Amino acid sequence: MSDDFLKDLLEAEKSGEIDKELLDSIESEKTTYKVDERILELNVPKDKTSRVIRGRFLPKRQGSRNNYIKRYKHVFKGANKKWIDEICPTTFKKDCPICDKNKKMWDAGSDAQIEVKNHRKRDLKYYANFYVEKDDINPENNGKVFILRFPKTIFEKIEKALKPEFEDEKPVNAFKLLDDGANFVFRMTKEKKPIGGKMVEVPNYEKCTFETPSAFMDGDIDEIRKVMESCHNLESLLEGCKSYEELSEKLDSVDSIKIAGESIPKMSNRQGVDDLFENDEDKEEDVDIDDIVNSNNEEDELPF
Ligand SMILES: [Zn+2]
Repeated sequence: MSDDFLKDLLEAEKSGEIDKELLDSIESEKTTYKVDERILELNVPKDKTSRVIRGRFLPKRQGSRNNYIKRYKHVFKGANKKWIDEICPTTFKKDCPICDKNKKMWDAGSDAQIEVKNHRKRDLKYYANFYVEKDDINPENNGKVFILRFPKTIFEKIEKALKPEFEDEKPVNAFKLLDDGANFVFRMTKEKKPIGGKMVEVPNYEKCTFETPSAFMDGDIDEIRKVMESCHNLESLLEGCKSYEELSEKLDSVDSIKIAGESIPKMSNRQGVDDLFENDEDKEEDVDIDDIVNSNNEEDELPF
């Protein structure tokens, strides 16, 4: 070791530079989480009361078999405060150790176990390519194609438009580009819902709707081609699903819950994510924060 090096090191100690370095590096670890820039969230920012996004669902891109993707995920903090952020194998109609454990807790039925189960429930989201014509909150999104993450409520609107309730209504296919398709307007407000024992602000999608059918880009083929070429690979969202064994192992590694009823840890509320991420020092880098923030606690066909 050279004398200069040691001299500089000790100088840095005296000046307090070393403390600052350590604090900065701890701070940067805290604020690192995965943000997928391709994904557009249907949320209303904290300081706003509403948001309008007008645009068009896009059909499957070349080489893809899907207009949209349906994906279940588990995102929660385990008993030892480590995070689970994993695709639920039920997405592919396979067995899932987390859902199985939830079922055991559901069957056991104590309040504490049901609370844990609720917190660990799989969360359903749909994904499709979406062209943003106008976003009133983030105009930098205008004219771009994103992977739109949307809840079941919106999917049901797509389904209903395709199979209208009344005879005089014309079916609309959200994924058609020409005259039978239509733009979609997300008019979102906020509402408070009791989730996990406290009132949580969640988006309200009641006023989201299709516009009158019309051809995308006025049917201009060159414009349509340009947009379609910017579509994202939806199938990439289904990569990385762990096997039953791998997922069991991961669950064991974050867990110490005894199903029989002893030692149920106090869980933090997955919905209260704002306080979670402002105050929580234990989060890991690979947690996808949007999965938690946008979990709307919608009804699932599984009770557990
Ligand atoms: Zn599962």
